[in-house]
Amino acid sequence: MSHDLINPATGAVFTSVQHVDAAAVDDAVRRAQAAQRRWARVAPAERAAALRAFAASVDAHIGELAALEVTNAGHPVSAAEWEAGHVRDVLQFYAGSPERLAGKQIPVASGLDVTFHEPLGVVGVITPWNFPMPIAVWGFAPALAAGNAVLIKPAEWTPLTTLRLGELAAESGLDPDLLQVLPGAGAVVGERLITHPGVAKIVFTGSTVTGKHVLATAAAQVKRVTLELGGKSANIVFDDCDLEQAAATAPYGVFDNAGQDCCARSRILVQRNVYDRFMELLEPAVAGVTVGDPASRDTEMGPLVSRPHWEKVASYVPDDAPVAFRGTAPTGDGFWFPPTVLTPNRTDRSVTEEIFGPVVTVLPFDDEADAIALANDTAYGLSGSIWTENLSRGLRVSRAVEAGNLSVNSHSSVRYTTPFGGFKQSGLGRELGPDAPLAFTETKNVFIAVKEM
Ligand code: NAD
Repeated sequence: MSHDLINPATGAVFTSVQHVDAAAVDDAVRRAQAAQRRWARVAPAERAAALRAFAASVDAHIGELAALEVTNAGHPVSAAEWEAGHVRDVLQFYAGSPERLAGKQIPVASGLDVTFHEPLGVVGVITPWNFPMPIAVWGFAPALAAGNAVLIKPAEWTPLTTLRLGELAAESGLDPDLLQVLPGAGAVVGERLITHPGVAKIVFTGSTVTGKHVLATAAAQVKRVTLELGGKSANIVFDDCDLEQAAATAPYGVFDNAGQDCCARSRILVQRNVYDRFMELLEPAVAGVTVGDPASRDTEMGPLVSRPHWEKVASYVPDDAPVAFRGTAPTGDGFWFPPTVLTPNRTDRSVTEEIFGPVVTVLPFDDEADAIALANDTAYGLSGSIWTENLSRGLRVSRAVEAGNLSVNSHSSVRYTTPFGGFKQSGLGRELGPDAPLAFTETKNVFIAVKEM
């Protein structure tokens, strides 16, 4: 079945892709199983070399991959280039893993006891539309490094860069059956990956609603899952911080990728005694965000991904919404939405629900305990920022906020060298960091009895 793709900056169909069906998934699993058995026997150094060759192939196509993401997802070109470069970097990082996946030798009587990290087999990676390239590579790079085959199902709206990465893998010499991209509907292709007994693990990134379904479905087969789900992260601004810097960077903490970012700091919490001053500083910072043509190098924020998503985001800003101020955005065709700052009450749905667009709420708080209580008053727990010059407070609050990725005086969440994932309903398990390949293995223990002389 052919599926039209729409350029979010113009609202026009620009190409279409063929969706695969459940029978094609079954066939892909059979081929992946055979390829995985061959891959698992490849010497670690050769596996590393294959991943490095794949990284080099990505590096030679950064511009092409970025251009695809500009048109397909509306990402600003500079961001899209960073994302393609990130794929290369993550592949290079995990190319170091095959030769380091060492087991243990455990002291025992009358023999030798050793552990092995065995690959799981075939892994299914299901990705969302907001960061197609980074989220795909977080799944497939460590999985391949650990000796698995990978089947990726990209989101319906944004499959193009993932399809191209699959081609680049094959062009670089990787067995084409080892990394297969299966574009299609979540309810068909995604569902079949989860229910297929030949798929050993699912790495799912997407909404918490779908994630719960994935978890429940996978449970029927005790299938392994990693879940990276929604977020509603806090940006906590204390009165002792560098207020100018906190205000100047707050827009980038939430409006990056037009707010379609699971780590978006979409709830700004400001200590009451500096609230008015912070808002005075925030207004010009928000007005200064350059929203426009994603193909332009000056653009900082592009359009939303689709019309249905635009409508969902707009539903959080009705005519009587408590809008403090807004930035600018193009009018006309395309799914444009201006950066928007709301000052609602603590129980408003704009404060409690993930909007996943360029809309941020600002609430005052009284003291440290109030800030922590507000930050934790959510079902989510993905990331967050704490602005303070008092490092004891920075560390204390970081430890008290129930979230997987905190930063003090920064909005950085993702570094491929460090673990990433959510507390509470933001997810299950961790991606990235040096241990990520272990999540694609089972530990096997072997005891060899030694005969006494
Ligand atoms: P979504 O849950 O609608 O879709 C995600 C993927 O799941 C898509 O590929 C979709 O086709 C597939 N899918 C849908 N139904 C399925 C089913 N029944 N079985 C199997 N697969 C199915 O999410 P989305 O709207 O594409 O993405 C936005 C969400 O992703 C937001 O909530 C965001 O916070 C979250 N997200 C989380 C992270 C993270 O790392 N925690 C990163 C990015 C995005």
